[in-house]
Amino acid sequence: MQDQRMTPCFEGARRPARRTKIVATIGPASWQANTVAELVKAGMDMARLPLAHGSIEDAVGVLRTIRSAAPDVGLLADLPGPKIRAAAFPEGGSAVVAGTSIELVKEDAKHPTSGSSRIAVANEDLIANLQPGDRVALGDGGVALTIESRAGDRVIAQVRSGGLLQGRPGVTAPASRSSLSTPTEDDLEKLAVLVAEGVDVVAVSFVNRAADMEIVRSAAGPGPLLCAKIETPEGVAALDSILAVSESVMVARGDLGVRIPIEDVPHVQKQVIRAGIRYGRPVITATQMLESMISSPVPTRAEATDVANAVFDGTSAVMLSGETAIGVNPVEAVATMAAIAQRAEDNFDYRSWGSGLDAQEVAGHETEQVTATITAAAWRASMEQGSPAIIACTRSGATARAIARFRPEAQVIAATPLEMTARQLKMSWGVESVIVKESYSTDEIVWFAVQEAVEQGYAKQGDVVVVLAGSPDEPEPVTDTLRLVRVH
Ligand code: PEP
Repeated sequence: MQDQRMTPCFEGARRPARRTKIVATIGPASWQANTVAELVKAGMDMARLPLAHGSIEDAVGVLRTIRSAAPDVGLLADLPGPKIRAAAFPEGGSAVVAGTSIELVKEDAKHPTSGSSRIAVANEDLIANLQPGDRVALGDGGVALTIESRAGDRVIAQVRSGGLLQGRPGVTAPASRSSLSTPTEDDLEKLAVLVAEGVDVVAVSFVNRAADMEIVRSAAGPGPLLCAKIETPEGVAALDSILAVSESVMVARGDLGVRIPIEDVPHVQKQVIRAGIRYGRPVITATQMLESMISSPVPTRAEATDVANAVFDGTSAVMLSGETAIGVNPVEAVATMAAIAQRAEDNFDYRSWGSGLDAQEVAGHETEQVTATITAAAWRASMEQGSPAIIACTRSGATARAIARFRPEAQVIAATPLEMTARQLKMSWGVESVIVKESYSTDEIVWFAVQEAVEQGYAKQGDVVVVLAGSPDEPEPVTDTLRLVRVH
C-alpha cells in the first residue's frame, strides 16, 4: 500500500507550474519589446544576451528593452571569451570542398577576407603555431581541416569534410596553439558595463580552470551570479574545481561538440548535470535543442526527445539559441520547449531522485555545510508531512538553490526581499519566488514568508508547510532554522 504521507497534498492549493526553466537567446528575431513580452507569456524564464556580435552600446540598448518589456525575467549576459574567428566570407558564403587543399593565413590588410581557397584567421599566434597533423574545425565543426605543411607565414591544410562557410565562423584548433585565455580584456571591459546595468547573471565562455572564474568574480563584485560555460576538454577535466567557485554552470554543447569527440557530448552533458547537482548549482543545457525550429514550425522527433531527456537527466534549465535569436518563430519555439519540458516532468521520478542523492559538495565552506544539512532535513520533512510547499527564506538565493537540488515534488518557494535574487532564481529548477519585506528576526521572517505563500495560493488552512530560515543577527548569515508551520 502506498504511504500517503509521501505525496504532497496539493488539494485546494496551487499546483506547481513547469519546473524546468527556459533560457531564450535574444537576437534580431526577438529583440523588439512586444516579442520579448510574448516570449515571457510563452514560457521564457531567463533572457540570454550573447555579446559576441555587435557593440556593447547596442547590447545595452537590448538589455534595457528586455528589462522594460519583461521586468521579472532573469537577464543573463554571455561574455564572448577568446573565440578565434575567420575573416568574413563573401555574401552568400563560400563552399569548401572535401579532398582539396586550402591555405590558412593571418587576417591583416593584405588578407582582409576569406574565400574557398584561402581562410584568413583573426589571431596573432595561431597561424605561427599550427603544426602538421593538427585538426582545425570551422563554424559548428561541419568543415574540418588537417594541417599538412607550412610555407613561410602560411599553412596548407587538407579539407577532410567540406561545407558552406558564411559570415565570420569560429576557428577551433588545439588549445595549446594559441595563448588566449578567458576572460579577455574585451570581456572585462564589457563586464564593467554589464555590472553597471545590473544584469542578473554573467556567463563566462571557454572556462578552463577555477582561476578563470575567480578573475571574473573579483572584477564583477558581488552583484551578478556567474555561470561557467563548460565547452573545452580542459573545462571538463577541471569541472569540480570550477563548480566550487561558480554559482551556476552551462553545458555549452556547441563549442563542446567541436572540441571533444561528438560521441562524448551526451556523456559530458550527464556528467556536468550530475556534478552541478552535487554542488547545488543550477545547470543550463544549451545549444541545438530545437535547432530545426530556426526554419521550421515544428521540431524533429529527435529534438523533442533531446529536451525531454535533459529533463530526465535533471537539468535545471534548457536553452534556446538560434531558435529564438534568428529563427522564424521565436515565440513558438519557446512554447514548444515549454510543452515538451512540462510533459517530461509528468514522468519525472521525484521520490527516487531525492533519496538517491549524495550529500551536497560544499568545498570546505562551513555555512554552506549547515545549509546542505538542513535542506536535506527539509526535503525529508516535506515528504513525511505531505507538504505542498517548502519555503526558503533567502537573501542570496543559496538556500533555494540548495533545496532545489532535491527536485522535491512540493513547490519550492523562495521568499526574498531582493528582486535581483528573485530574477537570479529564474534558472533554478522548480523555484518560484515571492517578494517579502525586510525582517529583523527569525520569527518575523518565517511569519511573513508563510503569509505571502498562503496569499499566493501555494498553501491553505490545515496544510503543514516546511520553512527554512536564518538568523539575521549572525555575523555571517546562515540558514540554520527548519520549522514546520501548520497554516491557520
Ligand atoms: C555553445 O557553444 O554551446 C554556447 C552556448 O556558446 P556560444 O553560443 O556562445 O558559442
